[in-house]
Amino acid sequence: MLELSDIHTYYDHIHALKGVSLTVNEGEIVALIGGNGAGKTTTLRTISGMMKPRTGSMTFEGQTIAGIPAHHIMQKGISHVPEGRRIFKDMTVRENLDVGAYTVTDRALIENRIQEGFGFFPRLKEREHQLGGTMSGGEQQMLAIARALMVAPRLLLLDEPSMGLSPLFVEAIFDIIVKLNKERGTTVLLVEQNANMALQIAHRAYVLQTGEIKLSGNAADIAQDESVRKAYLGDE
Ligand code: ATP
Repeated sequence: MLELSDIHTYYDHIHALKGVSLTVNEGEIVALIGGNGAGKTTTLRTISGMMKPRTGSMTFEGQTIAGIPAHHIMQKGISHVPEGRRIFKDMTVRENLDVGAYTVTDRALIENRIQEGFGFFPRLKEREHQLGGTMSGGEQQMLAIARALMVAPRLLLLDEPSMGLSPLFVEAIFDIIVKLNKERGTTVLLVEQNANMALQIAHRAYVLQTGEIKLSGNAADIAQDESVRKAYLGDE
């Protein structure tokens, strides 16, 4: 479904991605783990078109997406939930969802998708007219994901969805990711600092270190790997 081959991305002179190659197959949850500054966020930004790779190729469902504008990439079926959520704090839950559907003109379709979002996130339905900024971090994360679903993506890019959440919310968010994958058929590329949880729900995983893929394989195998356990899973 998604294929990156030898992708190099820079911030001016900072070489953030140094030849990243990875594949996401339809129906999978793929975790991308790694320490601070490894390039996880940059990988998602490159896929969604927020940043342009300097070299390398990138295809989605067989079509090249390297270098094309972000809104075109979204229209092809890739939706990105950025780090830090970025919901509109002065808008209600419903207004946030409406804005998320800005590429959709059919009102009935928008309403259908809002209701679909409420199906996955009943908490948002209860808070339909509440201002985004007054909700808890976990609820805002739910809203950010529901908003990303308004364009009916086939591939969802999630950047640190568990960041800053209480353990109960972390679990709720991970449950939702599994549910979206199983019931909606959404393919997921998941960036996480919480490698333990990510490896529990992912089918496959990649380990990124200073801009390079160091390891890849089945999530269960990666979770057993000694170097991964020491570096990212808190083993002594
Ligand atoms: P974290 O978990 O800390 O967010 P990450 O794995 O997502 O880390 P990135 O944010 O992708 O890592 O950063 C990769 C590299 O690019 C790092 O060396 C970082 O310092 C650099 N970088 C990230 N954003 C910028 C920026 N806006 N300007 C310059 N360099 C940046």
